[in-house]
Amino acid sequence: MSLKVIAGQITYIERLYIYHYVPGAHALWISLDSWEPPESPLEFLRGEGRQLSVEEIVKRALKYSTKTLVFDGPLPYEVAEELLRRGFRVAVRYDAPLELPKGASLLMQTSSPEDLRAQLKAYDDVHLEVYPTNLEALEEAPKDLPVHLFSWPDYLKVEKMGFYYVYNHTQPYREDTKCPRCGTPNAVRENDTLLGWDGPRCRRCGFRLHYHAEETPEVPRVIREWLSWRFSVPVL
Ligand SMILES: [Zn+2]
Repeated sequence: MSLKVIAGQITYIERLYIYHYVPGAHALWISLDSWEPPESPLEFLRGEGRQLSVEEIVKRALKYSTKTLVFDGPLPYEVAEELLRRGFRVAVRYDAPLELPKGASLLMQTSSPEDLRAQLKAYDDVHLEVYPTNLEALEEAPKDLPVHLFSWPDYLKVEKMGFYYVYNHTQPYREDTKCPRCGTPNAVRENDTLLGWDGPRCRRCGFRLHYHAEETPEVPRVIREWLSWRFSVPVL
């Protein structure tokens, strides 16, 4: 079992916009080469991917003390399944349909109500977060679907629509997670960094927010230092 990898970097999950995943965790972020066929001239433009075994990826993640993996690109189902089986948290960011096993997370573009309906159905067992290219896509969406935006006017509109987890990743940034029931800030973020997190329960009203962890995993001191002044550190 192997993957064609362009690059692998250590970074904070906050910088990858998957907010309900594991706040404050550092992750091995892997860009996959998805071009087919591999001889395509386009491959050249993307850089040269290398074939890496799942073993090699696991070894590298453990070397940097992380159980959190985020893939950009179409991660094959069986690789995701194997990594989950080994106790890793697996998230994927991609913009076309792909099959993922139960327990994985997916950050995906969505463009219309039909598109989103199909995604919600296809990813019933998967934790889904979306970035809509068109706000109409959200018309019938469940209010607890995390929505990521890159426009302040859109952010205001989506908040007004009653969504619980809405984020704006451009000026003025709004990247905190608030309790959907009482509005108390639960995870506070600035500049793509987690400043503080109360854990999965609201400290004021006890509401349980849908994160994927009970507490922030320990980040080794050396990695904290690297990431305090760099966006990411290439390790693959
Ligand atoms: Zn609350």
